[in-house]
Amino acid sequence: MDIEFSPELEQFRDEVRAVIRAKLPDDLRRKVQHEHDGLNYLDITRWHAIMFEQGGWSCPSWPREYGGPGWSYEQQYIFERELEINDAPPLSIFSAGMVGPALIEFGTEDQRERFLPGLANGEIRLCQGYSEPNAGSDLASLQCKAVRDGDDYVINGTKIWTTDAQHSNWMFGLFRTDSSGKKQHGITVLLVDMAMPGLTVSPIETFEGGDELNQTFFDDVRVPVANRLGEQDKGWSIAKYILGMERFGSANLSRSMATLQRLKVIASEEPAQGGRLIDDTAFAQELAKAEIALRQIELSEQRFLFGPGGPDAMGFEASLLKVRGTEVQQQIMGLMIEAIGAYGHLALDDQPGGDSNAVLAGPEASEYAATMFFNLRKGTIWGGSTEVQKNIIAKAVLGL
Ligand SMILES: Cc1cc2nc3c(=O)[nH]c(=O)nc-3n(C[C@H](O)[C@H](O)[C@H](O)COP(=O)(O)OP(=O)(O)OC[C@H]3O[C@@H](n4cnc5c(N)ncnc54)[C@H](O)[C@@H]3O)c2cc1C
Repeated sequence: MDIEFSPELEQFRDEVRAVIRAKLPDDLRRKVQHEHDGLNYLDITRWHAIMFEQGGWSCPSWPREYGGPGWSYEQQYIFERELEINDAPPLSIFSAGMVGPALIEFGTEDQRERFLPGLANGEIRLCQGYSEPNAGSDLASLQCKAVRDGDDYVINGTKIWTTDAQHSNWMFGLFRTDSSGKKQHGITVLLVDMAMPGLTVSPIETFEGGDELNQTFFDDVRVPVANRLGEQDKGWSIAKYILGMERFGSANLSRSMATLQRLKVIASEEPAQGGRLIDDTAFAQELAKAEIALRQIELSEQRFLFGPGGPDAMGFEASLLKVRGTEVQQQIMGLMIEAIGAYGHLALDDQPGGDSNAVLAGPEASEYAATMFFNLRKGTIWGGSTEVQKNIIAKAVLGL
């Protein structure tokens, strides 16, 4: 299936492309072109606000009545592709793609009024409190407790790998409110104000020097019952709904397409055996394999999104796209490292004695390629590891 969009949709593509190009600040474009190296929450928030001003483009899947643009699935797909192809930062997936839709589906009117405007304009910056030290793949084993006390819940325990918790003012989290039955029962979704006393965020530095991960500790943190999403003890289905909302972009396809184009430029400038790297047969074969893999993912994505049932029917297919998409993304970054060869030092400027004013010895990509190569190793872990996604696919396809 290779879908052709109608002339109206192609005109929509032209329009959103023109707006993205006109509105995207140069410094953000440059960071994205450096494979997102140095792109931080302030950048994402700034871009989110610019897209919001455009008529709710910061929350592309939301209906008009809640502040979104009211776009069809095709329009959302085109918009997501144009963002990446034109080197724009991603929008906040937690706000726009996950919690916003969950509030629209399961929230009370009061919660929608309190949270949706801030999620749309970027004033509310969310982090996700799902994983715990002994509950990652087996998420339903989570133990961070919320005990009802009058009009509040009182939370004690810890969450880990909380991305950007240090920059967030709210968390959407899963908490244990009952341990008497099956582990999926007794989980409750709460929206937690990060400024509440007793909540502390402790940074976890990653191998390549990244600082987005954290462990979050709760010591008698009080959360009003009014901040509970859905019913007490029945949060597991909402948690799964929120995870399943990442339908568009789970394969990182658009981003990988943009990276491959940059890689081709690098390979056409890098010397190899008296010629150019891009003309080296072995390297060109690897480029071709990556390009074919991306095309396969693109066709599968279109088949799942626009085939019978549409995006709402997507189940294990999202896992399939995530597994393949993140594998190919890592493969392309591996080729980038190969292309820059000996210049691929890891965070050279941050080493003791490193000189940030030094003139770059190799191609521009040598500034960021190693950092982002290691950063993207995480892609096959977050949001459910590859092994776990393969279990989901095996169960669905083989009926195991
Ligand atoms: C960059 C990054 C950002 C993240 N951000 C967040 C966030 O913002 N909020 C949040 O809540 N969480 C976040 N996470 C956590 C992420 O969801 C978990 O790391 C992931 O679900 C894996 O859980 P775990 O780390 O506990 O590993 P484990 O579950 O302990 O797994 C360890 C290994 O065992 C394998 N394994 C486990 N179970 C099975 C099985 N049944 N079959 C086969 N193999 C299995 C896994 O594949 C893995 O290789 C983030 C993780 C990363 C890497």
